Amino acid sequence: MVDVARIASAAEQSVEGSFARLGRYLAFAPISSDPEAKPRLAQLAEVLRDDLTTLGMSRSRVLELPDAHPCVAAEWTGAGPGAPTVLVYGHFDVQPVKGEAWSTEPHALVRKGDRLYGRGSADDMGGWLSHFVAMEAWLHETGSLPCNVKILLEGEEEIGSPNLERFMDAYPEAFESDAMVLTDCENPGVDIPGLTVSLRGLLEVEVSIAGAESDVHSGLWGNVAPDPAMALIALLARLVDEDGRLRLARRDVDPAWLAASRGVPLTADVIRSGARLLDGVNPLPDRALTPAAWAWREPAVTVLSTTFPAPGSEKNAIRKSSSAKLSLRIAPGQTAEELFAAVAAELRRDVPGGLTVTITTLPGAASSWDYVAKGPAFDAADRAYEAAWGRAPLRVGLGGSIPFVALFGRRFSRLPLVLNGVIDPDTGAHGPNESMHIGVYTKTVKANVHLYAELATALKKA
Ligand SMILES: [Zn+2]
Repeated sequence: MVDVARIASAAEQSVEGSFARLGRYLAFAPISSDPEAKPRLAQLAEVLRDDLTTLGMSRSRVLELPDAHPCVAAEWTGAGPGAPTVLVYGHFDVQPVKGEAWSTEPHALVRKGDRLYGRGSADDMGGWLSHFVAMEAWLHETGSLPCNVKILLEGEEEIGSPNLERFMDAYPEAFESDAMVLTDCENPGVDIPGLTVSLRGLLEVEVSIAGAESDVHSGLWGNVAPDPAMALIALLARLVDEDGRLRLARRDVDPAWLAASRGVPLTADVIRSGARLLDGVNPLPDRALTPAAWAWREPAVTVLSTTFPAPGSEKNAIRKSSSAKLSLRIAPGQTAEELFAAVAAELRRDVPGGLTVTITTLPGAASSWDYVAKGPAFDAADRAYEAAWGRAPLRVGLGGSIPFVALFGRRFSRLPLVLNGVIDPDTGAHGPNESMHIGVYTKTVKANVHLYAELATALKKA
């Protein structure tokens, strides 16, 4: 009988040593949206392939497709055909840092207190590195793993996984598995692990309002000719309630879910700190829901850009046209079409002066995702987290959109999809001073050690 707790503590001993590797990976600055970073992504893919070989994986390789950043794939199949195969997905690309005020060098790993700072530290390098460390401990301590494993690291997650489905088609064997662990999600607190079961989708639209052939004198024509800029403001204001929240296409939140969501530690303090609110600024009122319901289960709207005249271009004129780009967050279970229809109808209703309103959808939409995390694989995950964190993961949603999750959900709907990660509310992913909490990382490493053993038992084939 293998003593899994002993392997977990061996893995814990390796946590400190893995920071140097994290620093080495992060220093590649693998920014997938930056064309100049392309060779760095390719180099990092090769380094990861070699490191996975060293770790004891077989068939460690760089997967390539034309016009795409590569993926890295590796596997270990020593547990035999009677044991399940667990796929670990992560991404090795990162968000850009341009224009962000970092207090440390973003592409160097800097330790301060109980956190490790650097772009990609938690999103998502720490996520998959926590599996490297856990697998290494199993192989080092016992010479094997309790289940077969596959690792798939993507290089384009931060630009919306545009080619991931092509990789699935071109390299189906790299994805073939009995359960998938997708490590790019958030924990609700540094002592409360999370299991993500819903995501909001994303839809971007452009609203354009046209009124005249040219700009005209605002003194001569103000109050008699309709003003597209003011009309745009009025129309956009219709979309939201007194708190500034989208008031259209709201969803009924299941009462049982709502009651449970009162246990989510998304408190006023967490929101203040996570959303970097200024002193004196407060989170929006709950209005009979909970912050979790607002953030995860309801649709939302944000202004991305407008064509309002910029400072320096002032003139006393009614501008001939005006437009805004909006981002709409699609509620779990809601379709982009439903939400678009509700928003478009409101923007076209009773337009002042009959101004011309054109609404177009922009590329890059992502579906929402609503999942029921039940069954043996999730019982296994609960047990693994209980062993490592002292409690089962809380079922959480994510207000953001992760195109790859909706894609995995569509392509592998019959498989258990375990969404976890090393992000916490203070990580600051996609912003300055991104960091990973060392305690979260350590507990995740240990949970992974247990997870392989638990899944091996729960999904045993023969
Ligand atoms: Zn990520």
